Amino acid sequence: MTAARARFVVFGSGLVLAAAAAASAQASAPVCDGFPQTPGQIGGVHFRASPLRHDVVFPKLAGTRLTLEGLVLTTSCTPVRHARLDFWQADAHGHYDDTGFRLRSHQFTDAQGRYRLETIVPGPYPGRTPHMHVKVRAPAQPTLTTELYFPGASYNSRDPYFDRRLLVRLGEVKKRFVARFDFVLQIR
Ligand code: FE
Repeated sequence: MTAARARFVVFGSGLVLAAAAAASAQASAPVCDGFPQTPGQIGGVHFRASPLRHDVVFPKLAGTRLTLEGLVLTTSCTPVRHARLDFWQADAHGHYDDTGFRLRSHQFTDAQGRYRLETIVPGPYPGRTPHMHVKVRAPAQPTLTTELYFPGASYNSRDPYFDRRLLVRLGEVKKRFVARFDFVLQIR
């Protein structure tokens, strides 16, 4: 990201998110040689079963629109087809829906190992910087439970769980953020 192309978005919470121009996200390709395994993280207390869907946005949902996309790969850089991904997150105000299915979904990677979720940027909540919760499971493999973080979020440095290896690559296209993250699984 170059400073000249960065754009800063200030949310009501005071969160400042710096986004690179869209090209940086779209041009990103997996780096396969020696690609490290995606580290696990806590799952928290808010996980529950979710509907199969690629889009959790509904008309009156507040928040900055976000497309999260990428690949599921093995450590030898082979795309994993039909890997299951479960996503759950807080809304823009930092609240989870623990009784319904708002901002909860699961999906499966396509034949090229790709996934894509239409959602919003999650808000921070006490003690936690904005993050997406994810479970990733290749067929007949153990589940990886982890979280994704956003570059430039001002609370990152104060969150004890923050891990920069789990930062998405962030771009912006037509007032929506596009985040890229490739999950890398150790296949046994
Ligand atoms: Fe959380």
